Amino acid sequence: MKHFRINNLFMALVLFLSLLVLSLAHAENYHVAFVYDGDTILLQNGTKVRYLGIDTPEIDHENGNDEPFSQEARDLNRELVNMKTITLEYDRQTKDRYKRTLAYVFMENGEMVNALMVKSGLAYVVTCKPNLRYRSYLINIQRQAIRERLGIWQNLPIEEKTEYRGNRKSFRFHRKNCPSGRQIPINNRVPFRSMYDAFRDGYSPCHRCLPRWFEKTARFDFN
Ligand SMILES: [Zn+2]
Repeated sequence: MKHFRINNLFMALVLFLSLLVLSLAHAENYHVAFVYDGDTILLQNGTKVRYLGIDTPEIDHENGNDEPFSQEARDLNRELVNMKTITLEYDRQTKDRYKRTLAYVFMENGEMVNALMVKSGLAYVVTCKPNLRYRSYLINIQRQAIRERLGIWQNLPIEEKTEYRGNRKSFRFHRKNCPSGRQIPINNRVPFRSMYDAFRDGYSPCHRCLPRWFEKTARFDFN
């Protein structure tokens, strides 16, 4: 009986090790040829990769009307991956509607670039269902960046007079008077007393009613 158990254990170990070897062998290396902004890169093989689980301020390539912190986000991303070797990890969806590859990007030292962007306060967490693998991990890192008031978080008010409306299905939040916010079914509505509360729970702002929310001059005392 004892012998049988050891045998089983041994077989489990062999299976585990072969799976490990398989998964390591599967992690392919890629070379980064170009960095567009804080969350999009081009690989040498021509693949455009969009970082999963985060958003960074937009660079306006046409009119130069860049969002605040967009240059900083691109610079950090360049520093981390440009002309370097990376590996990709996928979640449930591997492509977005622009046919970009969706991935968690890892540097040679094993650190995840998506997480480092959030850690520095130059990216915020955006949940795109069904890709939830690192959601709580990234939210925790974001909470720390908010506490430290890094980058995009420096102007975020903690106490507000206004109220926001979250959608627990999409993890987006809106100003109370946003037409998209009004359409959220009652059962899916989550009230937030401040943007701070919404971000703390991993919700991200609607682009329609809260554009450039991280701008210094942005005012949040509307109704
Ligand atoms: Zn909205």
